[in-house]
Amino acid sequence: MLIDVSKIKGSKGDVLLIDTALDLSELDPAFTDVKVEGKIKNIAGVLTIKAKITCTFTSICDRCMEEASMPLEAKLDTIFDLNEAKDDSLTLENGKIDLIRTAYDALSLEVPMVILCKEDCKGICPDCGVNLNNEDCRCEKGEE
Ligand SMILES: [Zn+2]
Ligand SMILES: [Zn+2]
Repeated sequence: MLIDVSKIKGSKGDVLLIDTALDLSELDPAFTDVKVEGKIKNIAGVLTIKAKITCTFTSICDRCMEEASMPLEAKLDTIFDLNEAKDDSLTLENGKIDLIRTAYDALSLEVPMVILCKEDCKGICPDCGVNLNNEDCRCEKGEE
């Protein structure tokens, strides 16, 4: 998704509001329903980009190995210097900037270390292997 900043490129102090969907499936299909909402401001040839990115993150639960999906939210706070485009994550093409890589990097930082399908996921019994969320354990209990 390229954001057209040509309207605010020339005039300093101009603000462009962004409210758009992003497709990150090529980078990582785990991120779906990605939306970016925020603004881009041109301050003396430097674009300041402040936005909120939301998405649904889908992975595998660390405890029960079933699919787990959760909402993620990341803040985007970056600059893009029109005079010297050094930041590799943003590319200016025909007055448009590409936020895909930046959005992906920001969301990746928000992925939790431990992924659970739900907070109180009971996991899999190490002895009989049943998913304890769906079934009662078949192991004999209270024998010792
Ligand atoms: Zn689980
Ligand atoms: Zn068991």
